[in-house]
Amino acid sequence: MAAPRFTLGALACALATLAAHAAAADGAPDLVLLHGKIHTQDATRRVVPALAVRGNTIVATGTDADISALRGPATRTINLAGRTVLPGLIDAHTHPAQGAQDLGKCNLSDAALSSEQILAQAKACYRANPGDPRHWFEVTQVNPSAVSLSLADLDSIAGKRPLLLLGSDGHTTWANSAALAAAHISAASKDPVGGRIERDAAGRPSGTLRDAASDQLQLARPAYGLAHQAAQLGRAFAAMRATGLTSVQDAAVDDATMQIYKRLYDEHRLDMRVRASYTLTDLGAPADAVVAGAIAFRTKWAVDPDFLRADAVKIFADGVIEYPSQTAALLEPYLDASGRPTSNRGPSYFTQDNLNRIVSAADAAGFTVHIHAIGDRAIRSALDAFAYARTQQKTDNRDQIAHLELINPADFPRFKQLGVIANFQLQWAVKESYIVGGTLAYLGPERSKYLYPARSLLDAGAVIAGGSDWNVSTFNAFEAMEHAVTRRAGRGADPLLPEQAIPLQVAVDAYTINAAFALKQEASTGSLDAGKRADFIVLDRDIFSIPAFDLHATRVLATYLDGREVYHASTKRAAGAAR
Ligand SMILES: [Zn+2]
Repeated sequence: MAAPRFTLGALACALATLAAHAAAADGAPDLVLLHGKIHTQDATRRVVPALAVRGNTIVATGTDADISALRGPATRTINLAGRTVLPGLIDAHTHPAQGAQDLGKCNLSDAALSSEQILAQAKACYRANPGDPRHWFEVTQVNPSAVSLSLADLDSIAGKRPLLLLGSDGHTTWANSAALAAAHISAASKDPVGGRIERDAAGRPSGTLRDAASDQLQLARPAYGLAHQAAQLGRAFAAMRATGLTSVQDAAVDDATMQIYKRLYDEHRLDMRVRASYTLTDLGAPADAVVAGAIAFRTKWAVDPDFLRADAVKIFADGVIEYPSQTAALLEPYLDASGRPTSNRGPSYFTQDNLNRIVSAADAAGFTVHIHAIGDRAIRSALDAFAYARTQQKTDNRDQIAHLELINPADFPRFKQLGVIANFQLQWAVKESYIVGGTLAYLGPERSKYLYPARSLLDAGAVIAGGSDWNVSTFNAFEAMEHAVTRRAGRGADPLLPEQAIPLQVAVDAYTINAAFALKQEASTGSLDAGKRADFIVLDRDIFSIPAFDLHATRVLATYLDGREVYHASTKRAAGAAR
């Protein structure tokens, strides 16, 4: 099946020509950086002191003498005074447009709270700031580890106003009676494909909804206007630039999400490269129909090959592993709290045969296939689908599996064999409440040796890309790098499988050149090579020579995107956005 593809090279030439018109007439660089420690992240991971930019493009890297000699009368010079420079960071799995809509809402910060504490805080929020009464009241970042809320509990928070509590795992939603009624979710409702409506003994919805069961609520909820949504996204991107991000892969978009990006783009405020993964929702439908929908979507949203495109598809292969959700698909059953096997292996959201066909058809159409897989059975099933696709055609689509919480060791070598990128969220690879309270006991000691096995995949030759899954977690990549390198939540904390720690250089690769590869934009970003776009960041410290436990405190002093300064620490332009 022929597919329209962006010719990045041709466009690069066109843009470079345009930029050159704006640049100095004498052909000299517009900007040079001198006296720095510039980690180019090129093929040999060269560190150089100097770099020159013309228009939106890096024109040279090298010694202070070589780069100084290129300067013309109009060239601006920045003396880095020994500071460290990295390529602009790339978040390979995040949800900016969606996550941004929660900025300013009641936020429980993913704290491990009891049901009573959650009720008390939600009520306090509602009293303090009920917000626009035409909209539903929403409480975000609710840590689901220890929550058991009845419908009566939920109804006690905001009375007759529709209410949603949104789980920080991204897979659990609690709704009060008014919200359930507005969404027509009742005892007669069937569980949708890919989701579960929790029920009481009489079969009535109890207010807890898993995965796709919450889609109906999202549809029933009155939407904010596009201008509001775009402004929220603008706030989120400003905050991301302040932590060094210059490119993102949105891991799950639909038409409404793309409209938010397009609005910012049309307003010339999209200072972030966005590559979007279109969520395939009906995994029971014939593959041709599913992929035809994705192709139409890609064509519609091919806005700008450098800044806004939707040439990836997203598939949810399972849910989450933590108790009480336990919707991740496991090869062997979950254990109960005392270590005895249950009958639950987690749901299957599709048949393997149909997944194979959909993945192969999407691959043949030139999409990057991005699969959410948490449990060892979902990961194996995703790998099996990629293996099937490889028997059908040879492609180079940077297919990837995200999250990778529990991998069966037999599958470690398959990532390299099949050319599947390991898209990790290593912020999570520490002993926090989800792991300690909700995972270890339910998997047992044997399986728990393979949680977020980053080092094992590295040793098995896999390409590792990094992502935050914001707003499930912070988008600050330096915090995730610290956890990837230490496997600890902080100095003195108990480690989670310290043998699975990866070197800092590998973590930096994951957020630069490897993430660029995953986004199919390594020809223009991900390293500081002559000819690539001038996306780079200046740091307040040399991350390669500090204690790993200080990585999270790294501050970005300036962020450049396409040769333009889009963040400067002293301007405080990024103030306001959370996490
Ligand atoms: Zn995600």
